[in-house]
Amino acid sequence: MKLTTHIKRCKKCKELVENRTQVVIGEGPIPCSILFLGEAPGKREDVKGIPFCGVSGDMLEAAAFKAGLKRKQHYHILNILKCRPPENRDPTKCEIENCRPFLLKQIDAVKPKVIMAFGRYAQSFVLGVPPSDIRVLRNAGKVVQLTNAHAVLSYHPAYVLRNRGNDIAKAFDKHFLLARKIVKGKVPKCDAKNVEL
Ligand code: SF4
Repeated sequence: MKLTTHIKRCKKCKELVENRTQVVIGEGPIPCSILFLGEAPGKREDVKGIPFCGVSGDMLEAAAFKAGLKRKQHYHILNILKCRPPENRDPTKCEIENCRPFLLKQIDAVKPKVIMAFGRYAQSFVLGVPPSDIRVLRNAGKVVQLTNAHAVLSYHPAYVLRNRGNDIAKAFDKHFLLARKIVKGKVPKCDAKNVEL
């Protein structure tokens, strides 16, 4: 069975299955050198079946565009969870573990050179530490060397949206430029090395 069919039919997380409109698989070219990694679909994403398509998505798209990155051309988008948690609550440990094999297979297919990890849960995934141990603000802008790629740790676009016009938004813009540099082979000093996904 194709991976996308397998994911669409998944019923591993009972509460999410009961509340979702549809599964949000991801979006973008395969393979693709840049991968944007978010947390989980929100209300609009759940309805449309497209990741990052609400106001946060618009802001993300605009920030990426400033760095010369166009949606559906230059980056692939995936989430830690493929189904929306009710009322946009945080993903549970069990749900993250349930969905992890899908995400790993998707990343394997996309073969990114850079993963931009947006927010606590994406940072937790690339660093291999529990979400509660993640310090998003302290980590933002750091580069991590993974087994087959690099990760740029960044803010969740929803957080940036709430901080428009200040230094958070400016730093967010720089994270995309950093990702582009890494794709071109200009890898800066890494803050953590050889992290295995
Ligand atoms: S979040 Fe992932 S593991 Fe859970 S039901 Fe949806 S597709 Fe399955």
